[in-house]
Amino acid sequence: MVVRAGREFLAIPGPTTMPDEVLQAMHRPALDIYSNEMVQLTDGLLGDLKRLFRTIGQTYIYIANGHGAWEATLSNTLSRGDKILVLESGRFAIGWGEAAAAMGATVEVLKGDIRRAVRPAEVEARLRQDTQGEIKAVLVVQVDTASGVVNDIPAIGRAIKAAGHDALFMVDTVASLGCMPFEMDAWGVDVAMSGSQKGLMTPPGLAFVAANDRARERHRHAGLRTPYWDWTAREGLEHYHKYAGTAPVHLLFALRKALDLLFAEGLEASFTRHRLLARAVRSAVEAWAQGDVLEFNILNAAERSDTVSTVRVSTGYDPVALQAYCKGKCGVVLGTGIGDLSGKAFRIAHMGHVNAPMILGTLGVVEMALRALRIPHGEGGTAAAIRSLADAVSA
Ligand SMILES: *Cc1c(COP(=O)(O)O)cnc(C)c1O
Repeated sequence: MVVRAGREFLAIPGPTTMPDEVLQAMHRPALDIYSNEMVQLTDGLLGDLKRLFRTIGQTYIYIANGHGAWEATLSNTLSRGDKILVLESGRFAIGWGEAAAAMGATVEVLKGDIRRAVRPAEVEARLRQDTQGEIKAVLVVQVDTASGVVNDIPAIGRAIKAAGHDALFMVDTVASLGCMPFEMDAWGVDVAMSGSQKGLMTPPGLAFVAANDRARERHRHAGLRTPYWDWTAREGLEHYHKYAGTAPVHLLFALRKALDLLFAEGLEASFTRHRLLARAVRSAVEAWAQGDVLEFNILNAAERSDTVSTVRVSTGYDPVALQAYCKGKCGVVLGTGIGDLSGKAFRIAHMGHVNAPMILGTLGVVEMALRALRIPHGEGGTAAAIRSLADAVSA
């Protein structure tokens, strides 16, 4: 027996649910890529990306996913042999560092832990030791989508300043932009990158990079530059060069509509919505955790992300069976544990086009699965989520 029908619901951290308006925005013919309309579409989007990243720096749009944006940031700022410091807090900054190593950079990982955020004091201490200024860039993620952690980006920015170090500060915002506050200029970030398919409610395939003047100055001497990723080539007046070739017209239509929806809601309202829905998810997980089988991956409550929650499942109980039940019986797709958490956790995404019924429905289905599979759990998780939302959202 199943109780699924209709649309499968994606509760995975990317690609996420797209609004119908975004899907419909693509259902039209392509544009003449040399037309004024095309140029204006691009200029509007590049400007709106500045609004999102909160920077007066330059923005770039690539036909790529997040991995592509990683290469864009690295190839434009580094030379072969340059040393970079990767701040570990899960899987994704490590992956960014692996790309850098493959491209010829020398990568040092500041050891972290999958269960906590980066400690800014440790960053400052390491940079103070680097009296020769060997470290050219510091790489960190705002939200690690594997561990569910949110790093304190402004505090890390202050730590770099306090150390008096001039390494470029580069931040991955793939799982946070548009959903949680990010202040590129105010927080001292030199390069930020993101992707279209998570908080930004757009199909996979667009990658975004923002760079300030300091980063663009380094770029002038970067030895890893290649034609496709190159910032200089994309900064010219010729529209065709802004994409190093044909523009991804339909993805741009989708992005335009998604950003229109986001700005109509208001960025602050979007941040609040994400915070409240995340709190509801955490209320449910807290209740379930009373059964001593489920627990938050991130130990410190203040370090849990408002966009994705990673829930550990004790040995002897199978998160894969839980996911299979949710998907097969109810049409809700949960995220799997990845990296060190493979087979030991599941993830609930709450980013982008999400609302109360989607989140309460997802939590209800997880609770249903826990019960059907006889996985011990505290009672009343979904009820706790409802209480959390009702208390926060007044009549
Ligand atoms: C998803 C994700 C990426 C990778 O993005 P892809 O589009 O899958 O290449 C990078 N960083 C973070 C934090 C992510 O969540």
